[in-house]
Amino acid sequence: MIWYPYQQMKTMKTPYKITDAGGVYLYTEDQKLIDSVSSWWSVIHGYKHPVLTEAIKNQADRFSHVMLGGLTHEPAELLSEKLEAFLPGDLDYCFFSDSGSVAVEVALKMALQFYVNRGDWKRTKILSLTHAYHGDTFKTMEAGDDEDYHFILEAYGEKKYVIHIPTTIDALEDAFEKYHDELNCFIVEPLLQGAGGMRMYDVSFLQRARELCDQYDVLLIFDEVATGFGRTGNRFVADLVLPDILVLGKALTGGYIGHAVTVSNHKVYNGFYGDEAEKALMHGPTFMGNALACSVALKSIELFEKEDYMSKIHRIEEITRRELLDFTSDKVREVRIMGGCVCLEVYDSSSLKGYQQFAYERGVFSRPFLNYMYAMVPYIISEEELVKVIDTMKEWFART
Ligand SMILES: *Cc1c(COP(=O)(O)O)cnc(C)c1O
Repeated sequence: MIWYPYQQMKTMKTPYKITDAGGVYLYTEDQKLIDSVSSWWSVIHGYKHPVLTEAIKNQADRFSHVMLGGLTHEPAELLSEKLEAFLPGDLDYCFFSDSGSVAVEVALKMALQFYVNRGDWKRTKILSLTHAYHGDTFKTMEAGDDEDYHFILEAYGEKKYVIHIPTTIDALEDAFEKYHDELNCFIVEPLLQGAGGMRMYDVSFLQRARELCDQYDVLLIFDEVATGFGRTGNRFVADLVLPDILVLGKALTGGYIGHAVTVSNHKVYNGFYGDEAEKALMHGPTFMGNALACSVALKSIELFEKEDYMSKIHRIEEITRRELLDFTSDKVREVRIMGGCVCLEVYDSSSLKGYQQFAYERGVFSRPFLNYMYAMVPYIISEEELVKVIDTMKEWFART
Protein backbone atom coordinates (compact mmCIF):
# COMPACT_ATOMS: atom_id res chain seq x y z
CA MET A 1 0.00 0.00 0.00
CA ILE A 2 1.19 3.51 -0.80
CA TRP A 3 1.90 5.92 2.06
CA TYR A 4 1.11 9.30 0.47
CA PRO A 5 3.05 12.54 1.07
CA TYR A 6 1.91 15.27 3.46
CA GLN A 7 -1.30 13.39 4.26
CA GLN A 8 -3.10 12.07 7.26
CA MET A 9 -3.79 8.68 5.73
CA LYS A 10 -6.91 8.12 7.80
CA THR A 11 -8.76 11.22 6.58
CA MET A 12 -7.13 11.61 3.18
CA LYS A 13 -9.49 11.95 0.26
CA THR A 14 -8.85 9.37 -2.47
CA PRO A 15 -6.27 10.78 -4.89
CA TYR A 16 -7.27 11.23 -8.53
CA LYS A 17 -5.89 8.33 -10.55
CA ILE A 18 -4.01 9.41 -13.65
CA THR A 19 -4.19 7.08 -16.63
CA ASP A 20 -2.42 9.19 -19.26
CA ALA A 21 -0.87 12.61 -19.74
CA GLY A 22 0.05 14.80 -22.71
CA GLY A 23 0.81 18.51 -23.15
CA VAL A 24 -0.69 20.45 -20.22
CA TYR A 25 -3.28 17.71 -19.63
CA LEU A 26 -3.64 14.93 -17.10
CA TYR A 27 -6.24 12.27 -17.87
CA THR A 28 -8.33 10.30 -15.40
CA GLU A 29 -10.99 7.71 -16.26
CA ASP A 30 -13.62 10.42 -16.54
CA GLN A 31 -11.89 13.75 -16.80
CA LYS A 32 -9.29 15.75 -18.72
CA LEU A 33 -7.47 18.20 -16.48
CA ILE A 34 -5.11 21.12 -17.10
CA ASP A 35 -2.28 20.58 -14.63
CA SER A 36 -2.00 24.03 -13.05
CA VAL A 37 0.66 22.73 -10.64
CA SER A 38 3.02 21.28 -13.30
CA SER A 39 3.56 18.24 -11.04
CA TRP A 40 5.13 20.22 -8.22
CA TRP A 41 6.39 22.94 -10.57
CA SER A 42 8.63 20.68 -12.63
CA VAL A 43 6.85 19.82 -15.90
CA ILE A 44 7.72 23.04 -17.74
CA HIS A 45 7.43 21.56 -21.25
CA GLY A 46 4.23 19.67 -20.50
CA TYR A 47 3.80 15.89 -20.50
CA LYS A 48 4.95 13.48 -23.17
CA HIS A 49 7.07 16.01 -25.03
CA PRO A 50 8.34 14.13 -28.12
CA VAL A 51 11.89 15.53 -27.91
CA LEU A 52 12.29 14.65 -24.23
CA THR A 53 10.69 11.24 -24.54
CA GLU A 54 12.98 10.43 -27.43
CA ALA A 55 16.06 11.51 -25.46
CA ILE A 56 15.17 9.06 -22.69
CA LYS A 57 14.43 6.22 -25.10
CA ASN A 58 17.69 6.70 -26.97
CA GLN A 59 19.71 6.73 -23.79
CA ALA A 60 17.87 3.70 -22.38
CA ASP A 61 18.95 1.79 -25.49
CA ARG A 62 22.60 2.40 -24.49
CA PHE A 63 22.55 2.35 -20.66
CA SER A 64 20.21 3.86 -18.10
CA HIS A 65 22.67 4.28 -15.31
CA VAL A 66 26.30 3.82 -14.37
CA MET A 67 27.78 5.28 -11.21
CA LEU A 68 30.07 8.32 -11.22
CA GLY A 69 32.45 6.70 -8.74
CA GLY A 70 35.47 5.88 -10.88
CA LEU A 71 33.39 6.03 -14.06
CA THR A 72 32.07 8.81 -16.24
CA HIS A 73 29.89 9.11 -19.32
CA GLU A 74 28.87 11.43 -22.09
CA PRO A 75 25.39 12.47 -20.85
CA ALA A 76 26.84 13.76 -17.54
CA GLU A 77 29.76 15.42 -19.33
CA LEU A 78 27.52 17.12 -21.88
CA LEU A 79 25.06 18.31 -19.23
CA SER A 80 27.80 19.78 -17.03
CA GLU A 81 29.29 21.57 -20.07
CA LYS A 82 25.85 22.87 -20.99
CA LEU A 83 25.17 24.13 -17.47
CA GLU A 84 28.58 25.77 -17.30
CA ALA A 85 27.74 27.74 -20.45
CA PHE A 86 24.07 28.34 -19.64
CA LEU A 87 24.52 29.56 -16.06
CA PRO A 88 25.78 33.07 -15.27
CA GLY A 89 29.19 34.11 -13.96
CA ASP A 90 31.68 31.51 -12.80
CA LEU A 91 29.11 28.97 -11.61
CA ASP A 92 31.01 26.19 -13.35
CA TYR A 93 31.29 23.11 -11.13
CA CYS A 94 28.33 20.72 -11.16
CA PHE A 95 27.73 18.24 -8.36
CA PHE A 96 24.77 16.05 -9.33
CA SER A 97 22.30 14.38 -6.99
CA ASP A 98 18.94 12.70 -7.12
CA SER A 99 16.68 15.30 -5.53
CA GLY A 100 16.42 18.94 -4.55
CA SER A 101 16.66 18.19 -0.83
CA VAL A 102 19.88 16.26 -1.29
CA ALA A 103 21.31 19.00 -3.53
CA VAL A 104 20.60 21.55 -0.77
CA GLU A 105 22.25 19.23 1.78
CA VAL A 106 25.29 19.15 -0.49
CA ALA A 107 25.33 22.96 -0.70
CA LEU A 108 25.15 23.27 3.10
CA LYS A 109 27.87 20.66 3.56
CA MET A 110 30.04 22.50 1.02
CA ALA A 111 29.58 25.79 2.86
CA LEU A 112 30.57 24.37 6.26
CA GLN A 113 33.52 22.40 4.93
CA PHE A 114 34.73 25.35 2.85
CA TYR A 115 35.66 27.13 6.08
CA VAL A 116 36.80 23.99 7.92
CA ASN A 117 39.22 23.33 5.04
CA ARG A 118 40.75 26.71 5.85
CA GLY A 119 41.02 25.80 9.52
CA ASP A 120 38.09 28.01 10.54
CA TRP A 121 35.92 25.90 12.85
CA LYS A 122 33.84 28.78 14.19
CA ARG A 123 31.58 29.21 11.19
CA THR A 124 28.96 26.65 12.09
CA LYS A 125 25.83 28.75 11.60
CA ILE A 126 23.46 29.19 8.69
CA LEU A 127 21.53 32.38 8.03
CA SER A 128 18.16 31.72 6.45
CA LEU A 129 14.76 33.37 5.93
CA THR A 130 11.56 33.11 7.90
CA HIS A 131 9.04 30.99 5.94
CA ALA A 132 11.96 29.36 4.13
CA TYR A 133 11.55 25.93 2.56
CA HIS A 134 14.63 24.01 1.45
CA GLY A 135 13.49 20.38 1.45
CA ASP A 136 12.36 17.56 3.70
CA THR A 137 15.64 16.00 4.87
CA PHE A 138 16.92 16.88 8.34
CA LYS A 139 19.39 19.67 7.69
CA THR A 140 17.12 21.21 5.07
CA MET A 141 14.20 21.12 7.51
CA GLU A 142 16.41 22.89 10.01
CA ALA A 143 17.47 25.52 7.47
CA GLY A 144 13.81 25.88 6.56
CA ASP A 145 11.06 27.48 8.60
CA ASP A 146 8.05 25.42 7.55
CA GLU A 147 5.41 25.27 10.28
CA ASP A 148 4.84 21.61 9.54
CA TYR A 149 8.34 20.90 10.80
CA HIS A 150 8.25 22.97 13.95
CA PHE A 151 7.77 19.76 15.92
CA ILE A 152 11.44 19.06 15.16
CA LEU A 153 12.35 22.25 16.93
CA GLU A 154 10.22 21.29 19.89
CA ALA A 155 11.68 17.81 20.06
CA TYR A 156 15.29 18.98 19.84
CA GLY A 157 15.03 22.31 21.59
CA GLU A 158 16.30 25.55 20.19
CA LYS A 159 17.86 25.66 16.71
CA LYS A 160 21.49 26.18 17.54
CA TYR A 161 22.87 26.42 14.05
CA VAL A 162 20.26 28.35 12.11
CA ILE A 163 19.20 31.99 12.37
CA HIS A 164 16.04 33.11 10.58
CA ILE A 165 15.39 36.64 9.41
CA PRO A 166 12.53 38.28 7.50
CA THR A 167 13.17 39.75 4.05
CA THR A 168 13.94 43.28 5.23
CA ILE A 169 17.27 45.00 4.73
CA ASP A 170 17.32 46.12 8.38
CA ALA A 171 17.02 42.55 9.64
CA LEU A 172 19.68 41.47 7.15
CA GLU A 173 22.17 44.12 8.26
CA ASP A 174 21.51 43.38 11.95
CA ALA A 175 22.09 39.65 11.46
CA PHE A 176 25.39 40.19 9.65
CA GLU A 177 26.48 42.71 12.26
CA LYS A 178 25.75 40.26 15.05
CA TYR A 179 26.69 36.85 13.65
CA HIS A 180 29.05 37.41 10.71
CA ASP A 181 32.05 35.55 12.17
CA GLU A 182 29.89 32.50 13.00
CA LEU A 183 28.11 32.27 9.64
CA ASN A 184 29.24 29.98 6.85
CA CYS A 185 26.36 30.85 4.53
CA PHE A 186 23.22 32.77 3.84
CA ILE A 187 20.76 30.51 2.02
CA VAL A 188 17.65 31.86 0.28
CA GLU A 189 14.98 30.97 -2.19
CA PRO A 190 15.61 34.12 -4.22
CA LEU A 191 12.70 36.51 -4.98
CA LEU A 192 10.02 33.84 -4.57
CA GLN A 193 9.55 31.65 -1.49
CA GLY A 194 7.50 28.75 -2.79
CA ALA A 195 6.33 26.19 -0.24
CA GLY A 196 6.40 28.87 2.48
CA GLY A 197 3.42 30.54 0.77
CA MET A 198 4.44 31.98 -2.61
CA ARG A 199 5.94 35.01 -0.88
CA MET A 200 7.63 37.52 -3.15
CA TYR A 201 10.27 40.08 -2.27
CA ASP A 202 12.47 42.64 -3.93
CA VAL A 203 15.80 42.12 -5.65
CA SER A 204 17.32 44.99 -3.61
CA PHE A 205 17.31 42.60 -0.62
CA LEU A 206 19.47 40.15 -2.57
CA GLN A 207 21.79 42.89 -3.80
CA ARG A 208 22.40 44.00 -0.22
CA ALA A 209 22.89 40.34 0.81
CA ARG A 210 25.56 39.97 -1.88
CA GLU A 211 27.40 43.06 -0.58
CA LEU A 212 27.28 41.85 3.02
CA CYS A 213 28.40 38.33 2.07
CA ASP A 214 31.39 39.88 0.25
CA GLN A 215 32.15 42.25 3.10
CA TYR A 216 32.11 39.53 5.78
CA ASP A 217 33.30 36.61 3.63
CA VAL A 218 30.11 34.53 3.98
CA LEU A 219 28.93 32.25 1.16
CA LEU A 220 25.67 33.14 -0.59
CA ILE A 221 23.56 30.14 -1.62
CA PHE A 222 20.58 30.43 -3.94
CA ASP A 223 18.18 27.53 -3.67
CA GLU A 224 16.63 27.86 -7.14
CA VAL A 225 15.11 24.37 -7.06
CA ALA A 226 11.72 26.06 -7.58
CA THR A 227 12.67 29.43 -9.11
CA GLY A 228 15.20 28.16 -11.66
CA PHE A 229 14.40 27.88 -15.37
CA GLY A 230 12.23 30.95 -15.67
CA ARG A 231 9.58 30.66 -12.97
CA THR A 232 10.17 34.21 -11.63
CA GLY A 233 10.28 35.75 -15.10
CA ASN A 234 14.10 35.60 -15.00
CA ARG A 235 15.96 32.60 -16.44
CA PHE A 236 17.53 32.33 -13.00
CA VAL A 237 17.50 34.90 -10.24
CA ALA A 238 21.25 34.25 -10.34
CA ASP A 239 21.21 36.31 -13.57
CA LEU A 240 20.40 39.36 -11.42
CA VAL A 241 22.57 38.68 -8.38
CA LEU A 242 25.33 36.10 -8.52
CA PRO A 243 25.49 33.54 -5.67
CA ASP A 244 28.52 31.43 -4.72
CA ILE A 245 26.49 28.22 -4.86
CA LEU A 246 23.36 27.61 -6.93
CA VAL A 247 21.00 24.68 -6.42
CA LEU A 248 18.73 23.48 -9.24
CA GLY A 249 16.15 20.68 -9.28
CA LYS A 250 12.48 20.29 -10.16
CA ALA A 251 12.41 21.67 -13.75
CA LEU A 252 16.01 20.56 -14.41
CA THR A 253 14.81 17.42 -16.19
CA GLY A 254 11.58 18.98 -17.44
CA GLY A 255 9.86 16.94 -14.73
CA TYR A 256 10.75 13.63 -16.35
CA ILE A 257 12.94 12.09 -13.62
CA GLY A 258 14.16 13.23 -10.23
CA HIS A 259 17.51 14.91 -10.54
CA ALA A 260 19.23 17.96 -9.11
CA VAL A 261 22.54 19.77 -9.18
CA THR A 262 24.60 21.89 -6.80
CA VAL A 263 26.70 24.28 -8.84
CA SER A 264 29.63 26.06 -7.21
CA ASN A 265 31.77 28.96 -8.34
CA HIS A 266 35.56 28.88 -8.58
CA LYS A 267 36.09 30.28 -5.09
CA VAL A 268 34.15 27.44 -3.45
CA TYR A 269 35.67 24.75 -5.69
CA ASN A 270 39.19 26.01 -4.99
CA GLY A 271 38.50 25.73 -1.26
CA PHE A 272 38.42 21.96 -1.74
CA TYR A 273 41.09 21.64 -4.44
CA GLY A 274 44.57 20.57 -3.33
CA ASP A 275 46.78 17.66 -2.37
CA GLU A 276 45.11 16.82 0.94
CA ALA A 277 42.63 13.93 0.66
CA GLU A 278 40.74 15.16 3.73
CA LYS A 279 39.81 18.37 1.92
CA ALA A 280 37.73 16.47 -0.65
CA LEU A 281 33.94 16.76 -0.70
CA MET A 282 32.75 13.51 0.85
CA HIS A 283 29.42 12.99 -0.83
CA GLY A 284 28.18 10.66 -3.56
CA PRO A 285 24.53 9.79 -4.06
CA THR A 286 24.19 6.39 -5.73
CA PHE A 287 22.21 7.79 -8.64
CA MET A 288 24.10 11.06 -9.14
CA GLY A 289 24.55 11.88 -12.80
CA ASN A 290 22.01 9.25 -13.84
CA ALA A 291 22.33 8.93 -17.60
CA LEU A 292 18.59 9.08 -18.36
CA ALA A 293 18.24 12.18 -16.19
CA CYS A 294 21.27 13.91 -17.74
CA SER A 295 20.13 13.13 -21.29
CA VAL A 296 16.66 14.52 -20.73
CA ALA A 297 17.97 17.56 -18.80
CA LEU A 298 20.26 18.45 -21.69
CA LYS A 299 17.37 18.32 -24.16
CA SER A 300 15.17 20.28 -21.77
CA ILE A 301 17.69 23.14 -21.64
CA GLU A 302 18.11 23.05 -25.43
CA LEU A 303 14.33 23.38 -25.87
CA PHE A 304 14.25 26.21 -23.33
CA GLU A 305 16.77 28.14 -25.42
CA LYS A 306 15.67 27.20 -28.93
CA GLU A 307 11.98 27.88 -28.40
CA ASP A 308 12.56 31.11 -26.50
CA TYR A 309 10.85 30.05 -23.29
CA MET A 310 11.49 33.41 -21.64
CA SER A 311 9.03 35.02 -24.03
CA LYS A 312 6.48 32.28 -23.23
CA ILE A 313 6.88 33.04 -19.52
CA HIS A 314 6.52 36.79 -20.06
CA ARG A 315 3.33 36.09 -22.02
CA ILE A 316 2.00 33.96 -19.14
CA GLU A 317 2.69 36.82 -16.73
CA GLU A 318 0.97 39.36 -19.01
CA ILE A 319 -2.15 37.25 -19.44
CA THR A 320 -2.27 36.51 -15.72
CA ARG A 321 -2.05 40.22 -14.84
CA ARG A 322 -4.68 41.11 -17.42
CA GLU A 323 -7.11 38.44 -16.22
CA LEU A 324 -6.76 39.42 -12.56
CA LEU A 325 -6.68 43.18 -13.07
CA ASP A 326 -10.19 43.86 -11.78
CA PHE A 327 -10.44 40.87 -9.50
CA THR A 328 -11.39 41.47 -5.88
CA SER A 329 -12.99 39.31 -3.23
CA ASP A 330 -13.53 39.98 0.46
CA LYS A 331 -12.06 36.54 1.11
CA VAL A 332 -8.77 37.31 -0.64
CA ARG A 333 -6.07 39.08 1.29
CA GLU A 334 -3.62 39.54 -1.55
CA VAL A 335 -3.03 38.62 -5.19
CA ARG A 336 0.62 38.01 -6.00
CA ILE A 337 2.01 37.52 -9.50
CA MET A 338 5.60 36.96 -10.57
CA GLY A 339 6.58 35.42 -13.92
CA GLY A 340 4.92 32.02 -14.19
CA CYS A 341 3.55 32.04 -10.65
CA VAL A 342 0.26 33.43 -9.37
CA CYS A 343 -1.00 33.16 -5.82
CA LEU A 344 -4.28 34.23 -4.25
CA GLU A 345 -3.77 34.36 -0.49
CA VAL A 346 -7.00 34.12 1.49
CA TYR A 347 -7.65 35.39 5.02
CA ASP A 348 -8.97 32.06 6.20
CA SER A 349 -7.85 28.67 4.91
CA SER A 350 -11.40 27.32 5.30
CA SER A 351 -12.48 29.44 2.32
CA LEU A 352 -10.40 27.14 0.07
CA LYS A 353 -12.07 23.97 1.37
CA GLY A 354 -13.67 22.13 -1.55
CA TYR A 355 -11.81 24.12 -4.20
CA GLN A 356 -9.81 21.17 -5.48
CA GLN A 357 -12.96 19.21 -6.35
CA PHE A 358 -14.63 22.36 -7.77
CA ALA A 359 -11.64 22.81 -10.09
CA TYR A 360 -11.59 19.11 -10.98
CA GLU A 361 -15.17 19.27 -12.16
CA ARG A 362 -14.22 22.21 -14.40
CA GLY A 363 -11.20 20.44 -15.88
CA VAL A 364 -8.38 21.94 -13.84
CA PHE A 365 -6.06 20.18 -11.42
CA SER A 366 -5.16 22.45 -8.52
CA ARG A 367 -3.62 21.79 -5.12
CA PRO A 368 -4.12 24.69 -2.74
CA PHE A 369 -2.33 24.51 0.63
CA LEU A 370 -2.92 26.43 3.87
CA ASN A 371 -4.09 29.92 2.80
CA TYR A 372 -2.75 29.74 -0.71
CA MET A 373 -4.51 29.08 -3.97
CA TYR A 374 -1.90 29.20 -6.69
CA ALA A 375 -0.98 28.21 -10.21
CA MET A 376 2.42 27.41 -11.69
CA VAL A 377 1.48 26.23 -15.15
CA PRO A 378 3.59 24.44 -17.77
CA TYR A 379 5.17 27.11 -19.99
CA ILE A 380 3.68 25.59 -23.16
CA ILE A 381 0.13 26.42 -22.02
CA SER A 382 -2.09 28.20 -24.58
CA GLU A 383 -3.79 31.50 -23.81
CA GLU A 384 -7.18 29.81 -23.78
CA GLU A 385 -6.03 27.15 -21.32
CA LEU A 386 -4.41 29.71 -19.03
CA VAL A 387 -7.55 31.86 -19.04
CA LYS A 388 -9.51 28.77 -18.07
CA VAL A 389 -7.22 28.13 -15.09
CA ILE A 390 -7.60 31.72 -13.88
CA ASP A 391 -11.35 31.81 -14.56
CA THR A 392 -11.74 28.72 -12.40
CA MET A 393 -9.92 30.46 -9.55
CA LYS A 394 -12.08 33.58 -9.93
CA GLU A 395 -15.34 31.61 -10.23
CA TRP A 396 -14.69 29.92 -6.90
CA PHE A 397 -14.71 33.27 -5.12
CA ALA A 398 -17.62 34.62 -7.16
CA ARG A 399 -19.66 31.58 -6.08
CA THR A 400 -18.94 31.47 -2.36
C1 LIG B 1 10.94 21.32 -3.85
C2 LIG B 1 12.03 22.11 -3.24
C3 LIG B 1 13.13 21.48 -2.61
C4 LIG B 1 13.22 19.99 -2.44
O1 LIG B 1 13.31 19.30 -3.62
P1 LIG B 1 12.97 17.71 -3.66
O2 LIG B 1 13.34 17.30 -5.04
O3 LIG B 1 11.50 17.61 -3.37
O4 LIG B 1 13.79 17.08 -2.60
C5 LIG B 1 14.14 22.28 -2.12
N1 LIG B 1 14.09 23.62 -2.21
C6 LIG B 1 13.04 24.26 -2.78
C7 LIG B 1 13.06 25.75 -2.88
C8 LIG B 1 11.97 23.53 -3.31
O5 LIG B 1 10.92 24.16 -3.83
